[in-house]
Amino acid sequence: MPKWNRIFAHVDMDAFYASVEIRDDPSLKGKPVVVGGATRHRGVVSAASYEARKFGIHSAMPMAKAERLCPRLVRLPGSFSKYRDASDQIMEIFRSFSPKIEPLSLDEAFLDLTGIDRLLGPPEQVGCDIKKSIWETTHLTASVGIAPVKFVAKIASDMEKPDGLVVVKPGTVENILHPLPISRLWGVGPRTREALEAIGIRTIGDLASVDRENLISRFGQHGEHLHDLASGIDRREVIPDWDAKSYSHELTFARDLVDVDTLEGVVLDEAHRVSRRLRKDGVSGKVVQLKLRYHDFRTVTRRTTLEGPTSDTERIYHTARHLFHETWTQAPVRLIGVGVSGISPAGSETLDLFAPAQAQNRRRRLVETIDRIEERFGQGKVVPAKLLRIQDADGEG
Ligand SMILES: [Mg+2]
Repeated sequence: MPKWNRIFAHVDMDAFYASVEIRDDPSLKGKPVVVGGATRHRGVVSAASYEARKFGIHSAMPMAKAERLCPRLVRLPGSFSKYRDASDQIMEIFRSFSPKIEPLSLDEAFLDLTGIDRLLGPPEQVGCDIKKSIWETTHLTASVGIAPVKFVAKIASDMEKPDGLVVVKPGTVENILHPLPISRLWGVGPRTREALEAIGIRTIGDLASVDRENLISRFGQHGEHLHDLASGIDRREVIPDWDAKSYSHELTFARDLVDVDTLEGVVLDEAHRVSRRLRKDGVSGKVVQLKLRYHDFRTVTRRTTLEGPTSDTERIYHTARHLFHETWTQAPVRLIGVGVSGISPAGSETLDLFAPAQAQNRRRRLVETIDRIEERFGQGKVVPAKLLRIQDADGEG
């Protein structure tokens, strides 16, 4: 049997937002549940439970239509901070399996597992262990796909949803790919699909058997790329968003955001989370970075070096917010990340010369108290007022 040269996993939580809601309110179990905005606000479905999907409801569908399809549908406005907390837990689990993870959204990531089989066992075993860890920590189910080719792992995670585990062994990639419709390939949108179907190509297998030069003459580089994918060749690597020596938090939004207050609020929330992790680990950092991804996937990263290391929420927030305003073009934003690097053990902070010593001590005590309360009662019990306003706005859907 062919050997594993590379091992890629794609992990995708099942009906993530809806599953979190059902977990937290067992009376919803077995009911058709959706998370999304109200019909009167022209809301759309952002997640549908598997019960709701039986009625043909899916995400991105207008809520009015969903309610027509299923009159006893339970609609919840959604609680973003809850999803974010669950997401933090999941990403932490991924990091415990591989240093190379590439989050695609709150509930989905690629993991590069190449070489870890020597430590953790065969791919099937690792897949089971990832699912088990997620279940034990969050009481949520995930579907896992494992393959020797990156994009095939993503196709595999979708094959036995929910609670699935599909391992595509080396040498069997083509058996899995070839019967699938071409629309399942990355980079085949409606227009490419139409053009391919016009020349009789319907399945990935059809595409793989077409003469490569012919495809290149019709579609240029794109044709070459598609032919590679159809033949199970994908040279893309797992691209970790931040290096391992940084503390960062980033969030992809369910819809693109342009509201400056909300965006600043996200920066504050992320600064809060990052600084809390720094303090928990007893370290501080002197480089603050901000990452922005626009609606068209253009991504910009900016960083600035402070005079000395810090783990202070406000300092990190003010620096990140400044970077945000220097960078932001007012275009709709899909993702914001805040990170701190240049890490050193705490205690090496230079004193902030502009703040009187008393005020500094007060602030440090306040921060320590907040961390202690959060440790005892859970994150999110003590949050800056600005964040509370965002959570309220979320609540309206
Ligand atoms: Mg998902």
